[in-house]
Amino acid sequence: MKADIQPKYYQAKVTCNCGNEFVTGSTKSEIHVEVCSKCHPFYTGQQKAAAARGRVDKFNKKYGLQ
Ligand SMILES: [Zn+2]
Repeated sequence: MKADIQPKYYQAKVTCNCGNEFVTGSTKSEIHVEVCSKCHPFYTGQQKAAAARGRVDKFNKKYGLQ
């Protein structure tokens, strides 16, 4: 594979609907996601991500998910 046809690889800034931001490797420079590990419905229940943010942080720490 020639170097000039390889996609660029960024340290992409990922912004979640809950306000959480983190960095990951991607071919896009910015990514917007609806859920992340902090506000995934599995942990928060329903669409209460923003309101539950503080509690989710505590939950994640309690269960070692961070
Ligand atoms: Zn999130």
